[in-house]
Amino acid sequence: AEETITTDVVIIGAGPVGLFAVFELGLLDLKVHLVDILDRPGGQCAELYPEKPIYDIPGLPLVTGQELTDRLMEQAAPFNPQFHFNEQVEQVERQEDGSWLVKTDGGITFHAKVIVIAAGGGSFQPKRPPIPGIEEYEGKSVFYAVKKMETFRGKNVLISGGGDSALDWTINLQPIAASMQLIHRRDGFRAAPASVNEMHRLVQEEKMKFHLGQVTKLHGANGQLEGVTIKGNDNAEFDVACDTLLPFFGLTMKLGPIANWGLNLHENLIPVDTEKFATNAPGIFAVGDINTYPGKLKLILSGFHEVALMAQAAARIVNPDAKITFQYTTSSTSLQKKLGVA
Ligand code: FAD
Repeated sequence: AEETITTDVVIIGAGPVGLFAVFELGLLDLKVHLVDILDRPGGQCAELYPEKPIYDIPGLPLVTGQELTDRLMEQAAPFNPQFHFNEQVEQVERQEDGSWLVKTDGGITFHAKVIVIAAGGGSFQPKRPPIPGIEEYEGKSVFYAVKKMETFRGKNVLISGGGDSALDWTINLQPIAASMQLIHRRDGFRAAPASVNEMHRLVQEEKMKFHLGQVTKLHGANGQLEGVTIKGNDNAEFDVACDTLLPFFGLTMKLGPIANWGLNLHENLIPVDTEKFATNAPGIFAVGDINTYPGKLKLILSGFHEVALMAQAAARIVNPDAKITFQYTTSSTSLQKKLGVA
Protein backbone atom coordinates (compact mmCIF):
# COMPACT_ATOMS: atom_id res chain seq x y z
CA ALA A 1 0.00 0.00 0.00
CA GLU A 2 1.42 3.39 -0.99
CA GLU A 3 1.17 6.12 1.64
CA THR A 4 2.84 9.44 2.37
CA ILE A 5 3.58 10.45 5.95
CA THR A 6 4.53 14.02 6.81
CA THR A 7 6.75 14.45 9.88
CA ASP A 8 9.54 16.65 11.25
CA VAL A 9 12.26 14.02 11.29
CA VAL A 10 12.82 10.54 9.82
CA ILE A 11 15.39 8.45 11.66
CA ILE A 12 16.91 5.66 9.59
CA GLY A 13 17.86 2.89 12.03
CA ALA A 14 16.29 2.02 15.40
CA GLY A 15 19.53 0.95 17.11
CA PRO A 16 20.51 2.43 20.49
CA VAL A 17 21.60 5.72 18.93
CA GLY A 18 18.43 6.14 16.82
CA LEU A 19 16.35 5.42 19.93
CA PHE A 20 18.13 8.03 22.06
CA ALA A 21 17.80 10.53 19.19
CA VAL A 22 14.01 10.27 19.68
CA PHE A 23 14.49 11.52 23.25
CA GLU A 24 16.79 14.42 22.43
CA LEU A 25 14.68 15.52 19.43
CA GLY A 26 11.53 15.11 21.52
CA LEU A 27 12.79 17.50 24.21
CA LEU A 28 13.01 20.08 21.42
CA ASP A 29 9.42 19.30 20.26
CA LEU A 30 10.34 17.46 17.06
CA LYS A 31 8.07 14.61 15.90
CA VAL A 32 9.82 11.49 14.72
CA HIS A 33 9.25 8.39 12.60
CA LEU A 34 11.86 5.60 12.65
CA VAL A 35 12.47 2.98 9.99
CA ASP A 36 14.40 -0.26 10.47
CA ILE A 37 14.83 -3.32 8.31
CA LEU A 38 14.78 -5.49 11.44
CA ASP A 39 11.48 -6.59 12.99
CA ARG A 40 12.20 -4.86 16.33
CA PRO A 41 14.23 -2.06 17.94
CA GLY A 42 17.78 -2.29 19.29
CA GLY A 43 20.03 -2.67 16.22
CA GLN A 44 23.23 -4.56 17.02
CA CYS A 45 22.38 -4.71 20.75
CA ALA A 46 19.16 -6.65 20.11
CA GLU A 47 20.27 -8.60 17.05
CA LEU A 48 23.88 -9.54 17.82
CA TYR A 49 24.19 -9.63 21.63
CA PRO A 50 20.83 -9.38 23.45
CA GLU A 51 22.04 -11.43 26.42
CA LYS A 52 25.64 -10.18 26.68
CA PRO A 53 26.44 -7.62 29.36
CA ILE A 54 27.65 -4.13 28.40
CA TYR A 55 29.87 -2.52 31.09
CA ASP A 56 30.52 0.97 29.71
CA ILE A 57 27.14 2.71 29.65
CA PRO A 58 27.47 5.64 32.09
CA GLY A 59 25.41 5.03 35.22
CA LEU A 60 24.52 1.43 34.31
CA PRO A 61 27.45 -0.70 35.54
CA LEU A 62 26.00 -3.79 33.85
CA VAL A 63 23.21 -3.93 31.31
CA THR A 64 22.52 -6.51 28.59
CA GLY A 65 21.93 -5.52 24.97
CA GLN A 66 18.22 -6.27 25.28
CA GLU A 67 17.84 -4.49 28.64
CA LEU A 68 19.49 -1.35 27.26
CA THR A 69 17.11 -1.46 24.29
CA ASP A 70 14.11 -1.84 26.61
CA ARG A 71 15.24 1.09 28.78
CA LEU A 72 15.81 3.31 25.72
CA MET A 73 12.31 2.43 24.46
CA GLU A 74 10.88 3.38 27.85
CA GLN A 75 12.81 6.67 27.82
CA ALA A 76 11.59 7.50 24.29
CA ALA A 77 7.95 6.53 24.94
CA PRO A 78 6.71 9.96 26.17
CA PHE A 79 7.47 11.34 22.70
CA ASN A 80 5.30 8.72 20.97
CA PRO A 81 7.78 7.77 18.25
CA GLN A 82 6.27 5.92 15.29
CA PHE A 83 8.15 2.77 14.25
CA HIS A 84 8.16 1.17 10.81
CA PHE A 85 9.86 -2.22 11.09
CA ASN A 86 10.66 -4.68 8.30
CA GLU A 87 11.18 -1.69 6.00
CA GLN A 88 14.41 -0.71 4.28
CA VAL A 89 14.96 2.90 3.29
CA GLU A 90 15.84 2.72 -0.41
CA GLN A 91 15.81 6.33 -1.60
CA VAL A 92 16.10 9.87 -0.37
CA GLU A 93 15.17 12.74 -2.70
CA ARG A 94 15.69 16.42 -2.14
CA GLN A 95 12.70 18.70 -2.80
CA GLU A 96 12.98 22.23 -4.17
CA ASP A 97 12.17 23.76 -0.78
CA GLY A 98 15.05 21.85 0.83
CA SER A 99 12.84 19.21 2.47
CA TRP A 100 13.27 15.51 1.77
CA LEU A 101 11.27 12.53 0.53
CA VAL A 102 12.34 9.23 2.10
CA LYS A 103 11.10 6.04 0.40
CA THR A 104 11.06 2.48 1.71
CA ASP A 105 10.98 -0.83 -0.14
CA GLY A 106 7.53 -1.46 1.37
CA GLY A 107 6.03 1.55 -0.40
CA ILE A 108 6.03 4.13 2.43
CA THR A 109 7.06 7.69 1.56
CA PHE A 110 7.95 10.17 4.29
CA HIS A 111 8.08 13.90 3.75
CA ALA A 112 10.41 15.45 6.32
CA LYS A 113 12.58 18.50 6.87
CA VAL A 114 15.33 16.51 8.54
CA ILE A 115 16.78 13.03 8.04
CA VAL A 116 18.88 11.42 10.76
CA ILE A 117 20.95 8.50 9.54
CA ALA A 118 21.57 6.21 12.54
CA ALA A 119 22.26 3.19 10.36
CA GLY A 120 25.16 1.62 12.29
CA GLY A 121 27.11 -0.74 10.05
CA GLY A 122 24.29 -0.63 7.51
CA SER A 123 21.22 -2.77 6.89
CA PHE A 124 21.04 -6.18 8.48
CA GLN A 125 20.70 -8.68 5.62
CA PRO A 126 20.14 -12.43 5.79
CA LYS A 127 23.18 -14.57 5.02
CA ARG A 128 22.71 -16.57 1.82
CA PRO A 129 23.67 -20.25 2.12
CA PRO A 130 26.32 -21.42 -0.39
CA ILE A 131 23.95 -23.41 -2.63
CA PRO A 132 24.52 -23.02 -6.39
CA GLY A 133 21.70 -21.25 -8.23
CA ILE A 134 19.72 -20.31 -5.08
CA GLU A 135 19.17 -16.72 -6.37
CA GLU A 136 16.77 -18.04 -9.02
CA TYR A 137 14.41 -19.33 -6.30
CA GLU A 138 14.58 -16.38 -3.90
CA GLY A 139 11.26 -14.66 -3.29
CA LYS A 140 9.41 -17.47 -5.13
CA SER A 141 10.07 -20.62 -3.13
CA VAL A 142 13.13 -19.72 -1.05
CA PHE A 143 12.56 -17.10 1.70
CA TYR A 144 14.86 -15.64 4.38
CA ALA A 145 12.08 -14.27 6.59
CA VAL A 146 8.50 -15.07 7.45
CA LYS A 147 6.49 -11.90 6.89
CA LYS A 148 3.08 -13.61 6.84
CA MET A 149 2.62 -17.13 8.18
CA GLU A 150 -0.35 -17.70 5.83
CA THR A 151 2.06 -17.72 2.85
CA PHE A 152 3.20 -21.15 4.05
CA ARG A 153 -0.18 -22.75 4.69
CA GLY A 154 -0.41 -26.12 2.90
CA LYS A 155 3.26 -25.98 1.80
CA ASN A 156 5.87 -28.69 2.11
CA VAL A 157 8.41 -26.69 4.05
CA LEU A 158 12.11 -27.40 4.63
CA ILE A 159 13.79 -25.14 7.21
CA SER A 160 17.58 -24.97 7.38
CA GLY A 161 19.53 -23.75 10.43
CA GLY A 162 20.05 -24.35 14.14
CA GLY A 163 19.36 -21.02 15.85
CA ASP A 164 16.27 -19.49 17.41
CA SER A 165 14.75 -18.33 14.10
CA ALA A 166 15.04 -21.82 12.57
CA LEU A 167 13.56 -23.55 15.63
CA ASP A 168 10.81 -20.97 16.25
CA TRP A 169 9.57 -21.09 12.66
CA THR A 170 9.74 -24.89 12.57
CA ILE A 171 7.44 -25.04 15.58
CA ASN A 172 5.13 -22.20 14.50
CA LEU A 173 4.70 -23.24 10.87
CA GLN A 174 4.43 -26.99 11.50
CA PRO A 175 0.67 -26.89 12.31
CA ILE A 176 -0.27 -25.01 9.10
CA ALA A 177 2.26 -26.57 6.68
CA ALA A 178 1.35 -29.70 4.70
CA SER A 179 4.67 -31.14 5.87
CA MET A 180 7.63 -29.85 7.86
CA GLN A 181 11.31 -30.83 7.78
CA LEU A 182 14.29 -29.28 9.56
CA ILE A 183 17.90 -29.69 8.49
CA HIS A 184 20.94 -28.67 10.51
CA ARG A 185 24.58 -29.64 10.07
CA ARG A 186 24.95 -30.85 13.64
CA ASP A 187 22.84 -32.22 16.45
CA GLY A 188 23.60 -29.22 18.72
CA PHE A 189 21.45 -26.08 18.48
CA ARG A 190 22.00 -22.43 19.40
CA ALA A 191 18.37 -21.99 20.40
CA ALA A 192 16.22 -21.90 23.53
CA PRO A 193 16.23 -25.42 25.07
CA ALA A 194 12.41 -25.38 25.29
CA SER A 195 12.18 -24.94 21.50
CA VAL A 196 14.69 -27.73 20.89
CA ASN A 197 12.68 -30.07 23.15
CA GLU A 198 9.46 -29.14 21.38
CA MET A 199 11.06 -29.89 18.00
CA HIS A 200 12.25 -33.31 19.26
CA ARG A 201 8.72 -34.03 20.53
CA LEU A 202 7.22 -33.22 17.09
CA VAL A 203 9.77 -35.56 15.46
CA GLN A 204 8.92 -38.34 17.92
CA GLU A 205 5.21 -37.90 17.21
CA GLU A 206 6.05 -38.12 13.47
CA LYS A 207 4.63 -34.66 12.84
CA MET A 208 7.89 -33.54 11.22
CA LYS A 209 11.33 -34.85 10.17
CA PHE A 210 14.81 -33.80 11.22
CA HIS A 211 17.85 -34.31 8.95
CA LEU A 212 21.52 -34.00 9.90
CA GLY A 213 23.54 -32.49 7.06
CA GLN A 214 23.56 -29.68 4.52
CA VAL A 215 21.55 -28.80 1.43
CA THR A 216 23.91 -29.03 -1.55
CA LYS A 217 21.56 -28.83 -4.57
CA LEU A 218 18.15 -27.45 -5.42
CA HIS A 219 15.79 -29.15 -7.87
CA GLY A 220 12.97 -27.39 -9.67
CA ALA A 221 12.19 -25.05 -12.56
CA ASN A 222 11.29 -21.37 -13.05
CA GLY A 223 11.99 -20.56 -9.44
CA GLN A 224 9.65 -23.24 -8.11
CA LEU A 225 11.40 -25.72 -5.85
CA GLU A 226 10.50 -29.42 -6.07
CA GLY A 227 13.15 -30.92 -3.83
CA VAL A 228 16.72 -30.69 -2.57
CA THR A 229 19.78 -32.90 -2.31
CA ILE A 230 21.13 -33.28 1.19
CA LYS A 231 24.68 -34.33 2.03
CA GLY A 232 24.67 -36.12 5.34
CA ASN A 233 27.54 -35.92 7.81
CA ASP A 234 28.66 -39.38 6.57
CA ASN A 235 28.98 -37.75 3.09
CA ALA A 236 26.13 -39.89 1.71
CA GLU A 237 23.73 -37.88 -0.49
CA PHE A 238 19.98 -38.25 -0.60
CA ASP A 239 17.05 -36.26 -2.01
CA VAL A 240 14.01 -34.98 -0.12
CA ALA A 241 10.88 -33.45 -1.65
CA CYS A 242 9.76 -29.95 -0.62
CA ASP A 243 8.27 -26.90 -2.34
CA THR A 244 9.52 -24.22 0.09
CA LEU A 245 12.97 -23.66 1.63
CA LEU A 246 13.55 -21.26 4.54
CA PRO A 247 17.28 -20.86 5.31
CA PHE A 248 18.02 -19.13 8.66
CA PHE A 249 21.79 -18.62 8.67
CA GLY A 250 21.92 -15.38 10.64
CA LEU A 251 22.34 -11.81 9.53
CA THR A 252 25.25 -9.69 8.36
CA MET A 253 25.50 -5.91 8.03
CA LYS A 254 25.88 -4.35 4.59
CA LEU A 255 25.96 -0.62 3.90
CA GLY A 256 23.11 -1.09 1.42
CA PRO A 257 21.22 1.73 -0.33
CA ILE A 258 22.92 4.52 1.70
CA ALA A 259 25.74 4.39 -0.86
CA ASN A 260 23.36 5.75 -3.54
CA TRP A 261 22.10 8.88 -1.79
CA GLY A 262 24.78 11.26 -3.02
CA LEU A 263 26.43 11.57 0.40
CA ASN A 264 30.18 11.83 0.80
CA LEU A 265 31.50 8.48 2.04
CA HIS A 266 34.85 7.49 3.49
CA GLU A 267 35.42 3.71 3.72
CA ASN A 268 31.65 3.10 3.94
CA LEU A 269 31.23 5.70 6.70
CA ILE A 270 29.67 9.15 6.45
CA PRO A 271 32.02 12.05 7.31
CA VAL A 272 30.42 14.64 9.61
CA ASP A 273 31.47 17.73 11.56
CA THR A 274 31.61 17.48 15.35
CA GLU A 275 29.45 20.52 16.08
CA LYS A 276 26.21 19.34 14.43
CA PHE A 277 27.04 15.89 13.03
CA ALA A 278 25.81 17.16 9.67
CA THR A 279 26.62 15.42 6.38
CA ASN A 280 27.40 17.22 3.14
CA ALA A 281 23.64 17.30 2.35
CA PRO A 282 21.78 20.12 4.14
CA GLY A 283 19.18 18.66 6.51
CA ILE A 284 20.77 15.20 6.66
CA PHE A 285 22.65 14.25 9.82
CA ALA A 286 24.58 11.05 10.59
CA VAL A 287 25.04 9.72 14.15
CA GLY A 288 26.36 6.57 15.81
CA ASP A 289 28.47 3.87 14.18
CA ILE A 290 27.73 5.06 10.62
CA ASN A 291 29.59 8.38 10.93
CA THR A 292 33.25 9.26 11.02
CA TYR A 293 35.28 12.25 12.25
CA PRO A 294 38.73 12.69 13.76
CA GLY A 295 38.92 10.67 16.98
CA LYS A 296 35.62 8.81 16.45
CA LEU A 297 35.07 5.82 18.74
CA LYS A 298 32.36 3.33 17.75
CA LEU A 299 30.81 3.28 21.20
CA ILE A 300 27.19 3.67 22.25
CA LEU A 301 28.10 6.53 24.58
CA SER A 302 29.64 8.49 21.67
CA GLY A 303 26.36 8.13 19.77
CA PHE A 304 24.42 9.45 22.78
CA HIS A 305 26.56 12.61 22.88
CA GLU A 306 26.26 13.06 19.12
CA VAL A 307 22.44 13.02 19.11
CA ALA A 308 22.23 15.71 21.82
CA LEU A 309 24.23 18.13 19.64
CA MET A 310 22.56 17.03 16.41
CA ALA A 311 19.10 17.70 17.89
CA GLN A 312 19.95 21.39 18.46
CA ALA A 313 20.86 21.80 14.80
CA ALA A 314 17.84 19.78 13.62
CA ALA A 315 15.47 21.95 15.69
CA ARG A 316 16.85 25.09 14.01
CA ILE A 317 16.01 23.61 10.60
CA VAL A 318 12.49 22.48 11.52
CA ASN A 319 11.54 25.62 13.51
CA PRO A 320 13.87 28.36 12.25
CA ASP A 321 12.13 31.10 14.25
CA ALA A 322 11.91 29.32 17.60
CA LYS A 323 14.32 30.37 20.32
CA ILE A 324 16.11 27.40 21.91
CA THR A 325 17.04 27.87 25.54
CA PHE A 326 19.36 25.48 27.32
CA GLN A 327 17.53 23.65 30.12
CA TYR A 328 18.10 20.79 32.57
CA THR A 329 15.52 17.98 32.81
CA THR A 330 16.04 18.11 36.60
CA SER A 331 14.78 21.66 37.01
CA SER A 332 12.79 22.63 33.89
CA THR A 333 9.03 22.20 34.33
CA SER A 334 8.57 22.71 30.59
CA LEU A 335 10.83 19.71 29.83
CA GLN A 336 9.15 17.73 32.60
CA LYS A 337 5.73 18.39 31.04
CA LYS A 338 6.99 16.96 27.76
CA LEU A 339 8.18 13.90 29.66
CA GLY A 340 4.80 13.57 31.35
CA VAL A 341 6.27 13.84 34.86
CA ALA A 342 5.17 17.37 35.80
P1 FAD B 1 23.17 -0.17 15.08
O1 FAD B 1 23.05 -0.72 16.44
O2 FAD B 1 24.07 -0.82 14.11
O3 FAD B 1 21.72 0.01 14.46
C1 FAD B 1 21.56 0.46 13.13
C2 FAD B 1 20.22 -0.01 12.60
O4 FAD B 1 19.98 0.63 11.33
C3 FAD B 1 20.17 -1.51 12.31
O5 FAD B 1 19.10 -2.10 13.02
C4 FAD B 1 19.98 -1.59 10.78
O6 FAD B 1 19.16 -2.66 10.38
C5 FAD B 1 19.32 -0.25 10.47
N1 FAD B 1 19.51 0.18 9.08
C6 FAD B 1 20.66 0.45 8.44
N2 FAD B 1 20.43 0.85 7.18
C7 FAD B 1 19.09 0.87 7.03
C8 FAD B 1 18.22 1.20 5.94
N3 FAD B 1 18.70 1.62 4.76
N4 FAD B 1 16.88 1.05 6.13
C9 FAD B 1 16.38 0.61 7.32
N5 FAD B 1 17.16 0.31 8.39
C10 FAD B 1 18.49 0.42 8.23
N6 FAD B 1 29.43 -0.73 22.24
C11 FAD B 1 29.64 -0.20 23.49
O7 FAD B 1 29.55 1.01 23.68
N7 FAD B 1 29.93 -1.04 24.55
C12 FAD B 1 30.00 -2.40 24.41
O8 FAD B 1 30.30 -3.11 25.40
C13 FAD B 1 29.76 -2.97 23.12
N8 FAD B 1 29.81 -4.32 22.92
C14 FAD B 1 29.55 -4.83 21.67
C15 FAD B 1 29.58 -6.22 21.49
C16 FAD B 1 29.34 -6.76 20.26
C17 FAD B 1 29.34 -8.28 20.08
C18 FAD B 1 29.06 -5.91 19.14
C19 FAD B 1 28.79 -6.48 17.79
C20 FAD B 1 29.05 -4.53 19.32
C21 FAD B 1 29.30 -3.97 20.58
N9 FAD B 1 29.29 -2.59 20.78
C22 FAD B 1 29.49 -2.09 22.04
C23 FAD B 1 29.06 -1.64 19.67
C24 FAD B 1 27.63 -1.11 19.70
O9 FAD B 1 26.71 -2.20 19.61
C25 FAD B 1 27.42 -0.15 18.56
O10 FAD B 1 28.29 0.95 18.74
C26 FAD B 1 25.99 0.36 18.52
O11 FAD B 1 25.07 -0.69 18.29
C27 FAD B 1 25.82 1.41 17.42
O12 FAD B 1 24.50 1.86 17.49
P2 FAD B 1 23.79 2.52 16.22
O13 FAD B 1 22.42 2.87 16.69
O14 FAD B 1 24.69 3.57 15.67
O15 FAD B 1 23.73 1.40 15.10
